[in-house]
Amino acid sequence: MRMNKYEFWFVVGSQFLYGPEVLETVAARAAEMARELSKVLPYPVVYKVTAKTNGEITDVVKEANYRDECAGVITWCHTFSPSKMWINGLEDLKKPWCHLATQYNKEIPNDEIDMDFMNLNQAAHGDREHGFIGARLRKPRKVIAGYWQDEKVHKRLRDWMKAAVGVAVSRSMKVMRFGDNMREVAVTEGDKVEVQRKLGWQVNTWAVGDLVKGMNAVTEEEIDELTARYRDAYDVATEDLEAIRYQAREEIAIKKMLDAEGCGAFTNTFQDLYGMEQLPGLATQHLMSLGYGYGGEGDWKVSAMTAIMKAMGENGNGASGFMEDYTYHLVEGQEYSLGAHMLEVCPSLAAGKPRIETHHLGIGMNEKDPARLVFEGRAGKAIVVSLIDMGGRLRLICQDIEAVKPILPMPNLPVARVMWRALPDLTTGVECWITAGGAHHTILSYDVTAGQMRDWARMMDIEYVHIGVDTTPEKLEEELFLKDLAWKLK
Ligand code: MN
Repeated sequence: MRMNKYEFWFVVGSQFLYGPEVLETVAARAAEMARELSKVLPYPVVYKVTAKTNGEITDVVKEANYRDECAGVITWCHTFSPSKMWINGLEDLKKPWCHLATQYNKEIPNDEIDMDFMNLNQAAHGDREHGFIGARLRKPRKVIAGYWQDEKVHKRLRDWMKAAVGVAVSRSMKVMRFGDNMREVAVTEGDKVEVQRKLGWQVNTWAVGDLVKGMNAVTEEEIDELTARYRDAYDVATEDLEAIRYQAREEIAIKKMLDAEGCGAFTNTFQDLYGMEQLPGLATQHLMSLGYGYGGEGDWKVSAMTAIMKAMGENGNGASGFMEDYTYHLVEGQEYSLGAHMLEVCPSLAAGKPRIETHHLGIGMNEKDPARLVFEGRAGKAIVVSLIDMGGRLRLICQDIEAVKPILPMPNLPVARVMWRALPDLTTGVECWITAGGAHHTILSYDVTAGQMRDWARMMDIEYVHIGVDTTPEKLEEELFLKDLAWKLK
């Protein structure tokens, strides 16, 4: 659904100086490039205008800001395009902006090249004038340079487009909270007014009692239908079919409330389950597999980020999920973090077919043993992401990790589990994460990259901290100190 909703607008810069013939050629080529790029990119590229005047640029920017389907604007200067005419438009631009510094021709044609060719094909200096005005306006933008038919350029455009879709999803994000944050926890708190101003999220609360009313109204037929879908997707490894049916009842009621309010993410807490027999486990896991965001213990920041990062992933619902660092394996040469949650790990992270199991849950107010999906996470390169409120600003922390097949079977662990090594190595990675203030809750993603999160943070105008193979605690401390000063001045 999300995939079909968005498009990107292609705006090409030029001027009247070179005559109508050149402008016709520029327009025809721009239309051709948009057509060809649309075939290889996840979202359509729509050629809008060859801009020659201030009015044309402000008009297209006004329309881009207004149209929900426009997830971003890609600009390029085929010829020289004097930048003063771009100032008013770019100043008003509210949508993500990518400056594609490219060229129609790949090679310099040895025999053909003359001054006419030079006048028509001068992106090399047209894009510099365009770059200056972006820098001068301090406008957040992505600069991608390279030949427009190169796969490397396509990959970078693809990644940026998905990050820009993350911006669109963020701007319209609504989070439904059932119950408050877990008592006394600090990192899951945050300034909801500031978050709405910066990221667009509408974070509000609904009564657990209303959910219970909704659960009581779910019919046996609806439950039959959903449990049949569970059986198709997962292996049933419990005798307690009533527990599965109860989770289906919870899922149906939660989904109806989310959809009725247009919410893409939700939270709940084991401290407030009045009228419910089980903490939603399987229910929440299946909802996450459909693309809804979730955060445990009332963590609305991680919930919204989960939904956004899912939307940034493959086919608009990628392999991203709510995660929590639980415990370490600190044997030399085998240093790993074990991530899990009480119940709610998204099956998009699973290596194989998840099993539905029921187990006792000692924490919270569960009258019955909740059904949940149990599986191992897959191996591969991934990231973990945390959004924290620093007081006056938001910080997005992103760490590169290498997930492995869990090195222990852990037969008595009753929940889904993922095992990974943080970069640059487990203990240095932990030191850096703790130094930056990263939460115990994260979003783990196999298909969103650190580069995309950097793009997203730039577009949202929030602080970005990346912990990767080259990070040292010393460099990081200095970076955090300088950023703290810079963001206070900003
Ligand atoms: Mn937790």
